[in-house]
Amino acid sequence: MNMMKPLDPTEFRRQGHMMIDFLADYYENIAKYPVLSQVEPGYLRKLMPSFAPLNPEPIETILQDLQQHILPGITHWQSPNYFAYFPSSGSTAGFLGEMLSTGFNLVGFNWVSSPAATELEGVVMDWLGQVLKLPKDFLFSGCGGGVLLGTTCEAILVTLVAARDQMLSKIGRENIGKLVVYVSDQTHCAVQKAAHVIGIHPTCFRVIKTLKSTSFTLLPESLLSAVRTDVRKGLVPCYVCVTVGTTSTTAIDPLGPLCKVAKEYAIWVHVDAAYAGSVCICPEFRHLIDGVEGANSFSLNAHKWFLTNLDCCCLWVKDPTSLIKSLSTHSVYLENSASDSKQVVDYKDWQITLSRRFRALKVWLVFRSYGVANLRSFLRSHVEMAKAFEELVKQDKRFEIFVPRNFALVCFRLIPSAVAKIGNGRVQNGHIKAEDVANEINRKLLDSINGSGTVYMTHAIVGGVYVIRCAIGASLTEKKHVIKAWKVVQERTDAILKQLD
Ligand SMILES: *Cc1c(COP(=O)(O)O)cnc(C)c1O
Repeated sequence: MNMMKPLDPTEFRRQGHMMIDFLADYYENIAKYPVLSQVEPGYLRKLMPSFAPLNPEPIETILQDLQQHILPGITHWQSPNYFAYFPSSGSTAGFLGEMLSTGFNLVGFNWVSSPAATELEGVVMDWLGQVLKLPKDFLFSGCGGGVLLGTTCEAILVTLVAARDQMLSKIGRENIGKLVVYVSDQTHCAVQKAAHVIGIHPTCFRVIKTLKSTSFTLLPESLLSAVRTDVRKGLVPCYVCVTVGTTSTTAIDPLGPLCKVAKEYAIWVHVDAAYAGSVCICPEFRHLIDGVEGANSFSLNAHKWFLTNLDCCCLWVKDPTSLIKSLSTHSVYLENSASDSKQVVDYKDWQITLSRRFRALKVWLVFRSYGVANLRSFLRSHVEMAKAFEELVKQDKRFEIFVPRNFALVCFRLIPSAVAKIGNGRVQNGHIKAEDVANEINRKLLDSINGSGTVYMTHAIVGGVYVIRCAIGASLTEKKHVIKAWKVVQERTDAILKQLD
């Protein structure tokens, strides 16, 4: 019988090199694939055997199947023609860091389980915090600290748990039904899920309306009035999520004034800068997080726009003890003298799960391989490309920029008057509003753009309006790709308007 050697160094080297070659070829040829996978649901089950193989198969055969069956079902997030959602900006350094992390495959729940994993995490969180000019209170070099989690959803969940327990320790656990969580109608749905998970009563989840006239930002006066109403009802304001760069349109909530309102009522402020946080390493964007000194916690996704391969959410808190009080676990088998000495960080107490990966390697490699100066110019290049795309949109009078561009996301749409002719009969009959017609046509346009396979964009619905989002930031994107993307939009528009004429 064939003896299996799952970590034989010779085979590891051979197969590992093959896999790197495969991926290098993939990046080289990535633009040849349709960006958005065009397969039908269930396509893969038909191609795969019904049962797992009993006997080993060579890596060569597996790679063939990967190319033939898996690749067609992949949406190519690393494609230069990828403009959907937000980017997932991979890089050689991010990849190599991930590779090292996977290679060591350590489980760094506490300091002693791998001291370097914990300590490097502390170092890179302070590095990034300093580059962002976060107040010292958020850094280990002050009396705060940072942790690398998988995603923003986790950052929101852990901070919400800490905020809940901090408040309940003052008012009594029996009052959990009185705690109120505040968000805007543009806040990421992660907060609602987290509130649900931690037992916030559904009637105590406050969604504050935003308006186009104020660029869909959460207004301090709206927060204040909601808070006052709740206090009058005997409820207890607990947590507000302030977003710098909302998912739909990258709206920027006014952090400083919102923190002022929150402070008056001892509400925990979490700043969700999942996408836009990264660009705040550029001095010209830093003012967008002015006022962060008034917040309790701040997070960004290094896997979105900081060249760090998924997953890597950076969370800083001013008061790590509040996290630890809520999330620490004790087990005899985890006891060790380093933890007892209280001289070390045990990251298991800063997160939901016990086991954790060595994510700091990714951030460390990204910092060291590129340097802060290059990272800044890289981010700026995306903003410049977005400006160029915005200019192209503005030159075509059938379109409008729906909300002012803040970063590297352009939200645009075909304006109602450009499609009025099409819906005119129905509009006049009073069956349907001009805006509804515009929404319908813009939806068709986006379907057509994405069906082409040449670019991929996604949509948002804000204030009842369907807009197309062009998010620039894939690591391979260059200006020529952006110009081509706009050509595709125009061609598809011509075709649709003609067809409906
Ligand atoms: C992407 C995004 C999230 C969710 O991030 P995950 O890491 O997928 O949990 C949350 N908030 C904002 C503003 C985002 O853009």
